[in-house]
Amino acid sequence: MVKVFKVKAKNIFTPTKIPECAYSVNQYVGCQYACLYCYARFLCKWKRYGEWGSWVEVKVNAPDLVRNRFVYGRVCMSTISDPYQPLEEKLMLTRRILENMHKGIRLSILTKSDLVIRDIDILKKFSNVEVGLTVNGLQGREKEVFEPYSPPHARRIRALEELYDFGIKTYCFISPVIPKLVDVNRIIDELKELVSYFMVEFINFRAAGKGFINALKNMYPRSYEILTDKEAFIDYVGEVIENVEGVRARFIFHKPK
Ligand code: SF4
Repeated sequence: MVKVFKVKAKNIFTPTKIPECAYSVNQYVGCQYACLYCYARFLCKWKRYGEWGSWVEVKVNAPDLVRNRFVYGRVCMSTISDPYQPLEEKLMLTRRILENMHKGIRLSILTKSDLVIRDIDILKKFSNVEVGLTVNGLQGREKEVFEPYSPPHARRIRALEELYDFGIKTYCFISPVIPKLVDVNRIIDELKELVSYFMVEFINFRAAGKGFINALKNMYPRSYEILTDKEAFIDYVGEVIENVEGVRARFIFHKPK
């Protein structure tokens, strides 16, 4: 059972240094999906609510904070949570924000959930909006280990199909790329007709944290070896890049350990 903490925020558009994002919007802090590799786990150091995934802070006044505000530049929703995590179904916080937000704002939404299709009616009112679905194809044991509570692959694909059918610009965030476990080429082949572009992120080994590193080391030693051996990592990245030639894709690299 997730613990919910209702708070009032002073501001909801936060200037950010994330490449190509002028502002982030995080109406939720914390995420019920509790992915083992989540880079936002570091928040547990400051928010003393418990284990990552067991709590969510809800900025209840976020819909009021976006009303009558216009900001220039790309607004990224969300960067430290998922805007369509299960709580959203009942709270409709994200939906109310979208309703109140100026429809000329350049909005980019990223989620793992097909709940986003509920809001297609509002998304269609924006003049410049894109929706990204995080896709990594993890299933079976790997999904249980790394992201047990997130929606399954098939539901994410269905969400992209539906968004595409309704004329919403989509992109696919292939993340986190874990050598030998995530098949970048297969995902690109499956989705290249549905999305405007791919963003491919190789896992940030440091940010993913100890829990992830230990699980990888013990259960997937070959993947661990590639991520911890500079030459093997460079070879692996080279193979991936070579095979996606001709596809609109951006790559995000982090230093190997
Ligand atoms: S869905 Fe995203 S924000 Fe939520 S736990 Fe997973 S990686 Fe973190």
